[in-house]
Amino acid sequence: MKKETICIQSGWKPKNGEPRILPIYQSTTYKYETSEQMGRLFDLEESGYFYTRLQNPTNDFVAQKICELEGGVAAMLTSSGQAANYYAVFNICECGDHVVMSSTIYGGTFNLLTVTMKKMGIACTVVDPDLPEEELRKAFRPNTKCVMAETIANPALVVLDIEKFARVAHEHQVPLIVDNTFATPINCNPFEWGADIVTHSTTKYMDGHAMTVGGAIVDSGNFDWSLYPDKYPGLCTPDDSYHGVTYTEKFGKAAYITKATSQLMRDLGSIQAPQNAFLLNVGLETLPLRMERHCFNAQKTAEFLENHDQVAWVNYPGLKSNQYYELAKKYMPNGTCGVISFGLKGGRKAAEKMMDELKLAAIVTHVADARTCVLHPASHTHRQMNDEQLKEAGVAPDLIRLSVGIENVEDIIKDLEQALSKIDS
Ligand code: PLP
Repeated sequence: MKKETICIQSGWKPKNGEPRILPIYQSTTYKYETSEQMGRLFDLEESGYFYTRLQNPTNDFVAQKICELEGGVAAMLTSSGQAANYYAVFNICECGDHVVMSSTIYGGTFNLLTVTMKKMGIACTVVDPDLPEEELRKAFRPNTKCVMAETIANPALVVLDIEKFARVAHEHQVPLIVDNTFATPINCNPFEWGADIVTHSTTKYMDGHAMTVGGAIVDSGNFDWSLYPDKYPGLCTPDDSYHGVTYTEKFGKAAYITKATSQLMRDLGSIQAPQNAFLLNVGLETLPLRMERHCFNAQKTAEFLENHDQVAWVNYPGLKSNQYYELAKKYMPNGTCGVISFGLKGGRKAAEKMMDELKLAAIVTHVADARTCVLHPASHTHRQMNDEQLKEAGVAPDLIRLSVGIENVEDIIKDLEQALSKIDS
């Protein structure tokens, strides 16, 4: 099926007489006839639901849809995008291990890896994503377990050369994890370019209406963990907490997601609420339509800003003048995303004034939903970073992040125009 059809028809497929719409399994527990049956579930000897902290049918139907959209073999939902990125890395890293990460990654992921996971004994080397391959190679160590990057970085809008990153990761026998939140599977499928694991903050375009916080992890099934048992003992050697099951032997291509579900969800418990998964599923139904409009509107808005006297610079990969234009055309020929960043000739002060004057575009700590919104990352999402880290993350102090919604683009531009006209007054 094509992606538009998957968005509507995949996941929940009702049988005769069953509800047409995905039911919300609002239940913490599941009933069994015999104690022995329940025991087999706990031993992973049989598949089935027993407690919603680990798995829930509503979530699984939605995860299946996302899995199909990405072209993966297994997927899971998490309570947030943060949880998705944390699980994606922690599922294959432990104390003493090392991760290579793109410097332009979302601020929350940057903090997660360089501060919180560092406290857990997992080291991280931050690399400029535009480095040539021979320079990238220098970041790897014998204990490197994965590479982490973003298809389109939030908010620097750096387009990742996925093939380059995948090649270098695989040379070092580690998987490439790509956060595909901004591009969505509608505009890019990182697995087609060599990525092994994809993560999402479903809070963004997938939900699309700013209603629910959520995340997803999808496994391509392409990385053969069993070739490196010393590197990935958690997947390739018996798990004592599950009566000696070896995930790669028992679950094959589903090993990574099964381990993340049965170990990490069990112990850390960041399941997505089934109500949220239901709403996410509604959002997914219109994702292709919305992405098309987001990209159309963002292109027009970026062109308007580029031609405005008071605008110092505009960063949007759809602009021919953009340094990532060619990479974006290669990886996302149908469009990138609805997010633009720009700076004003008047600098940071003018940026703050302009934002205050906007009427249609709201100042919110969010991005990638139906409503146009703005944010000043240096004062908001990235305020924990010092100037050096901001520079490395590609976030200029005057950078305004504009998330272009799906309203009529003429109204969006009119709003920007009137706000810009007030800057000098
Ligand atoms: N990844 C990206 C690219 C993001 O933009 C965000 C949040 O903005 C996250 C991950 C974290 O997701 P969440 O806010 O759902 O935890």
